[in-house]
Amino acid sequence: MVLAHVPESPPVLFDLHSHTQASDGLLSPEALVARAVMRGVSTLAITDHDTVAGIAPARQAIAAQGLPLTLVAGVEISTLWEHHEIHVVGLQVDTRNPQLVEFLALQSQRRDERAAEMGRRLARARIEGALEGARRLAQGAQLTRGHFARYLVERGYATRCSDVFKHFLARGKTGYVPPLWGDMAEAVAAIHAAGGVAVLAHPGRYRLSAKWLKRLLTAFCAAGGDALEVAQCQQPPHERHQLALLARQFSLLASQGSDFHQPTPYLDLGRALSLPNGAIPVWTHWALAPLAPQPGASLLEAL
Ligand code: AMP
Ligand code: MN
Ligand code: MN
Ligand code: MN
Repeated sequence: MVLAHVPESPPVLFDLHSHTQASDGLLSPEALVARAVMRGVSTLAITDHDTVAGIAPARQAIAAQGLPLTLVAGVEISTLWEHHEIHVVGLQVDTRNPQLVEFLALQSQRRDERAAEMGRRLARARIEGALEGARRLAQGAQLTRGHFARYLVERGYATRCSDVFKHFLARGKTGYVPPLWGDMAEAVAAIHAAGGVAVLAHPGRYRLSAKWLKRLLTAFCAAGGDALEVAQCQQPPHERHQLALLARQFSLLASQGSDFHQPTPYLDLGRALSLPNGAIPVWTHWALAPLAPQPGASLLEAL
């Protein structure tokens, strides 16, 4: 018996949620795509907070070095729904779509206004120079609470960013300013106008009861939302399966993403990402460029 030679297909690993220095990620877009390849990711979405500024440099780095990586243009939009801050990830967006560009410019302005007020509130609590410090660390990127957290760590108010959030930046704390983001339906509409797919990000992180999570999903579906982020690399046991069931119940596609900001031992690009059986991947109907590693591509150069 002669066995036909079946060419080995390249391994497929999707990571559809990640951040760069264009918002609060620690890696440049160039270093992020190199790390994605090193980690075995075949399709990466860059989803910075309310900006698409990291996409073009990442695309250029992939082309210049012939990296075997498919890039998905994405964005993570902060929204408000029933006084909850809900994050909606847009995937496969046209980064130059005027409606999206205008919406993100407005979000940017809201971020700057919130940051100024955070600076004033922290100054009243005798923490001086926080706005300037956060701006310096952001180096022109979209300003986030993450930059404030890093500044406060730098000044010795805490040893870890998570402690800064706990004591100063979380809802109800000194530096917390209730945000004025656009509403969830507006964000979904802007993503759709840009030809993208709207994904409800990290549903387990909003501290909603099962009843409120279903209300959120009902509202997200009514707004035209397309998918649910079912798999993340750090999740309580069973959450992934519960979310996969909810995705089916609400006829939503399923997405997976690490929400990478920086390498840590427990969270990294592509780590522990897979969808439970029965979930319909958000990428099912995507026409993705084939993976074509080019000879001579050097990862080390980009690291
Ligand atoms: P913002 O969108 O400006 O409100 O900032 C939210 C970002 O802050 C999130 O995307 C996380 O990267 C980060 N963040 C939120 N909560 C925490 C926390 N408890 N510890 C560390 N980082 C956090
Ligand atoms: Mn973040
Ligand atoms: Mn988020
Ligand atoms: Mn994120």
